[in-house]
Order: sequence, then structure tokens, then C-alpha cells
Amino acid sequence: MKMEYDIIVCGGGMSGLSLVYRDLLSGVWANKSILLIDKSDKSVNDRTWCFWENSISPFEEIIYRKWDEMCFFSVDNKSFLLNTGDYNYNMIRSIDFYNHTLDYLKSQSNLTILNDNIKSVTSIGNSCEVVTDSHTYHSEYVFNSIYDKPKLEEKHTYLLQHFKGVVIESNELNLDPKQIYLMDFRTSQENGNTFFYVLPTSETTALVEYTLFSDKLLEKEIYDKRIEEYITEVLNINDYKIIDSEFGVIPMTDYPFARADGNIINIGTVGGDTRGSTGYTFTNTQKTITKIINSYQSNGTPHYTEEHISLKHKLYDSTLLKVLADGKYKGHQLFTDMFSSAKASDVLAFLDSESTLKQDFKVIKSLIPQYFIKPFFQSWLDK
Ligand SMILES: Cc1cc2nc3c(=O)[nH]c(=O)nc-3n(C[C@H](O)[C@H](O)[C@H](O)COP(=O)(O)OP(=O)(O)OC[C@H]3O[C@@H](n4cnc5c(N)ncnc54)[C@H](O)[C@@H]3O)c2cc1C
Repeated sequence: MKMEYDIIVCGGGMSGLSLVYRDLLSGVWANKSILLIDKSDKSVNDRTWCFWENSISPFEEIIYRKWDEMCFFSVDNKSFLLNTGDYNYNMIRSIDFYNHTLDYLKSQSNLTILNDNIKSVTSIGNSCEVVTDSHTYHSEYVFNSIYDKPKLEEKHTYLLQHFKGVVIESNELNLDPKQIYLMDFRTSQENGNTFFYVLPTSETTALVEYTLFSDKLLEKEIYDKRIEEYITEVLNINDYKIIDSEFGVIPMTDYPFARADGNIINIGTVGGDTRGSTGYTFTNTQKTITKIINSYQSNGTPHYTEEHISLKHKLYDSTLLKVLADGKYKGHQLFTDMFSSAKASDVLAFLDSESTLKQDFKVIKSLIPQYFIKPFFQSWLDK
């Protein structure tokens, strides 16, 4: 086996596979020798990726479900249909994503796929070294998506978005298949900002996800207990079967992840593509990959200067995260104020770092200002 490549991709999860698939498809890697290394073979449906979008996704053909309507429930049972404009909500099952990308990648003669454990990735001058359990490889560039918790300083906020999702099947399911519950706060808030997220996938099946933003995980049984309570007491379903489940923890932080270290380019969560205040990563990663492809097309390298998340949006994100972590402005109240007063399409653009100043103003106006002053200036000084 070769030990030298033009490009080594460390981690073939969401961002690694998206990158290799899209770069090869676009032609920018046509003449490169590429090694993709992951310790797992990606044969399990281990997560679902959901995201809102008002344009065509690079993975449009594998979107499993798409919804036009999004609904919100406050803690005191007030509900409203969100005015989401031309945004829709999409779900991609990871197994469809892995199969789709890997089927294509396996037919590419300039790509080698390796299952191995990566021990270290180092940038040395204009090249990189990757050490695995079995060999040492060299390349001009490495794209890395292997996440280690960063070394935080006191000024950084770090919360966990932890969730358990179950797919239920029931003849009692009384949900509109066109509509999702984007945030349903009709559950106890005793452990932090807590909501349910409900995605009907057919007349009789739905993904029901119990989600918390907090600094520590709960005992396993509590996730199950709360899910059961919600299904029986809020959704009023007594006869149901759990046919699938997922558990996840997503870091929510304003830690400034470096995009590059010499010729190592970080992508996905470790590249800062996870939005601190929401945990959403899929869309940001695709925007990063678009930047990388454009950069190859214009200057022949993956290095680019301007990130798609502007400094202004990083400042909003850090401020919002600090307010959520502080907890004086309760998360359920904050999101209720936001979604009840501002147009949801403006909120979605704001949370996706796509908002104009006019949209920013409308979203900021919906919130109680006193809670934001100190966190805003703290975030400003730290940037
Ligand atoms: C259950 C779950 C659901 C999520 N749902 C959403 C969602 O709906 N929407 C959204 O936007 N985001 C979601 N996220 C957040 C985010 O999109 C995912 O975590 C996403 O997979 C991050 O992509 P990544 O490439 O950074 O990491 P990963 O997809 O985790 O890829 C990293 C890869 O590195 C490999 N690896 C790790 N260590 C080593 C090693 N030492 N050697 C070799 N290989 C290694 C892993 O096997 C993995 O394949 C979810 C996260 C989880 C956990």
C-alpha cells in the first residue's frame, strides 16, 4: 500500500464523506491521490441530520423527509404555526448518506478507503503526517474531522446539547404528516433548557426527540421516563412501539476552533462548523465545503480567507450562548419570545448566520434586552 498521498482525509463521518464526495464530483480532486481513513465502516444508521433550508441541498436526492410547516409550543401550552417563508425542514438518515457517498467513492480509482484508528495528525512544513495503529502516512494536505474537546479558557462558554430520540410507531398517532414540532417546551424545565422535537415520518411513525441544553448529562433512565411521559400525556398516545432510537451529545461552545493548522484543514465540528447556540452542523459544513471547492477552483489550494460565518454572526452566537448558559433569561422564555414576536423566517436566517441587519434588528427586538447587555460586551471584548 502507498504511504504518500496528495490528500489524506482523517475521519469519514458527515464532514469527511461530504468533502470527498463533493470535491471528487466537482472535479477539483480529479488528479489527486486521496486516502480516506476512518475507524468505523459506516454500516449503521447512527444518527439523523436535520436542517432548514431555502435552497437546494448538495444531498437533495437522499433527503428522506421534507416538511413545509413548523409549529412551536410554549411551556404553558400556547402553540403557533411558524411563518417560515420559503424555508422547509429536511431530514437525512445517516445510513442513506453513508451508502450514497460510499457507493460513489468506491468507484473512484484515485481514492483509497482505509479502516484504521488514527493516533496523530501533524503538520510539518508544507506537508502532513498521519500515524495510525498500523502505519505512518504522508501527504501535502490533511482534512481533519476528528474531534477532541478543546482546552477551554475561563472566557469560553461550553454547554452540551444532549438528546435521546425514539422513532415510535402507533395507530394512535394524531399528527399532521406535513408539520413538525420544531420546539415543544411542554416538559419539565428543571434540568435546563428542555424541549421536544417531533418529526412525523408517516401516518403512523414519528421521531420524538427529548433535547436539553445544559452542562451535564442526565441518568439514562430520565431520558426514557420523560419521553414516555411526553408521548402518553402530551401526545396522548398509549399504544405505541419504539422501533429505533438515537442518543447524541453535541458541544455548544464559543471556543474559536481553528480552521487550519499549516496544511491541516479542520472541517465539521472540529473546524467550528457546529453553531454554538443551536448545535446545528450539517448546513454549515456544506457551506465550508463550498468555500473549499471554490478555493481550489480559483487558486488551486483549499485555503480561503473569509469564513461563511461572519464576525457579526459569531458575536450574536456567543452572546446567545452566554445568555442560555447563564439561565436568568430562561431558554423556554427566550425562544418563545423570539418565535412569537419575530417572523420565523427571520429567526431561521438569524440562527443560520444568513440574516441581514434589518432581520437582526427584528429578532433582537423580540427579546428582553437587559439579559443581553453584559454577555454582548463580554463576547465583544473576547473576539
Ligand atoms: C445523534 C446525533 C444527531 C445529530 N443530529 C444533527 C442534526 O439533526 N442536524 C445537524 O446539523 N447536526 C446534527 N448533529 C451534529 C453533527 O451534525 C454531527 O455530529 C455530525 O456527524 C458532525 O460531523 P463531523 O464530520 O464533524 O463528525 P462525525 O460525523 O462524527 O465524523 C467524525 C468521524 O471520525 C471518525 N473517527 C473519530 N476518531 C477517530 C480515530 N481516532 N481514528 C479514525 N477515525 C476516527 C469517526 O468514526 C467518525 O466517522 C447530530 C449529532 C449526533 C451525535
